[in-house]
Amino acid sequence: MKKIFKVDAIVTCNPQQEVIEDAFIAIDGDEILDLGPYKKRPRASSFKVEERPGCVMTPGLYNLHTHLAMVLLRGIAEDLNLQTWLFDYIFPAEKKWVDREFVKIGTELAVCESLLNGVVSVADMYFYQEEVGKILDKAGMLGVLGVSYFDHGAMDSKSLDQSLKHAVKLSNEYKKHDRIQVALAPHAPYTCSPETLRKTAQTAKDHKIPVMIHLSETEHEQKEIQAKYGKTPADYILEAGLAEAPYLLTAHSVWLSPSDIQKLNKKHVTAILNPQCNSKLSSGFAPITEMRDQGLRIALGTDGAASNNRLDILSEIQFLAKLYRLKTGDLEGFSGPDLFDCATIRAAEAIGWGDTRGSLEPGKKADFILFDFAKAHLTPLSDVYSHLIYTAQSTDVEDVYVNGQCLMKKRKIKVMNVDRVMNRARSFFHKMKSDLKMKPATRVA
Ligand SMILES: [Zn+2]
Repeated sequence: MKKIFKVDAIVTCNPQQEVIEDAFIAIDGDEILDLGPYKKRPRASSFKVEERPGCVMTPGLYNLHTHLAMVLLRGIAEDLNLQTWLFDYIFPAEKKWVDREFVKIGTELAVCESLLNGVVSVADMYFYQEEVGKILDKAGMLGVLGVSYFDHGAMDSKSLDQSLKHAVKLSNEYKKHDRIQVALAPHAPYTCSPETLRKTAQTAKDHKIPVMIHLSETEHEQKEIQAKYGKTPADYILEAGLAEAPYLLTAHSVWLSPSDIQKLNKKHVTAILNPQCNSKLSSGFAPITEMRDQGLRIALGTDGAASNNRLDILSEIQFLAKLYRLKTGDLEGFSGPDLFDCATIRAAEAIGWGDTRGSLEPGKKADFILFDFAKAHLTPLSDVYSHLIYTAQSTDVEDVYVNGQCLMKKRKIKVMNVDRVMNRARSFFHKMKSDLKMKPATRVA
């Protein structure tokens, strides 16, 4: 179906970072035909026109590092250092409770939350990815299914070889899928041996499967890997061959040295920053100035909801804008358009979709969101990027489109029954709660 949207402004995220005011976008099915000032719109009667006064359109947002199903563990362990949080609370809870049902219920809930926040694409890193794939597919979203594992395998496999085989099989199933890809996701340098990473690299190379991994998240990891192997975590994964994958996403990338950044600086490698999670767990501040100076691509992720605690990429951009300014003293070097690009076009490039998605340009897929700017806190519309980076809230996102299909209209999700999903999540949590080791933020008198 051919359709024209009339909006107050379109943020294109094209190479010129153009913003078009009083704009139209014309789509035909899943593709963008044209966009520009409304007075230059196509006049053919075959176009159905949807007028959205007060709305601003941007490309849909990408969350390139998360563990979707962990929304079920949100809030169970607070105010702890990362090692205690992970090894004493999260890993034991996962060992006991994560099964196919956990992943299905958690992922559905996370998909609802993501859509409500204007997120169209997720790079998930977890277990039972065949279930995640079915849910993302049904919801019409975009995504990368990161098949996660450790040296011994994972919750959904008995050994490393079984995990790798599973990833290859799933990757073959999604080879021709338009919206979903599969990646190998070894957990981290401190939980994966050289042999595990070498086997990952070989599988990635043989079957052309991308790789995602946590990298240099904490100083503790940096010291541990240095003591154990005599090299930095980045050298450790690169020497195992992980950059031989079609693309590599390194989540966190906080404790990278200038030489690490230089070695990671390849067209198909992207540092996925998680500023809110890294602040909350006091992991550190990524060397963004050096990354940008050298040209290493940056995109954004929330990490799981147990450590963020939201799956809200707009707030991630906004937090990073302020944190960057505070930590570097550089008020001019990382502009609003460059920040917003990290969650749109740079993110699409990171997962190999830069030619077809991530910006609003003729010939690209119709993936976009509409913000309602007819609100007190967004009036008057002085500058679109200023409002997006410093003022808008994810609750201002009204509509979400992927491939020209409407997934959310006026904040009503069309592809999921949110009430039913929340009820299932509540029941599952109720079942877990009596047996869950918790460290709440609440002080009990
Ligand atoms: Zn993570």
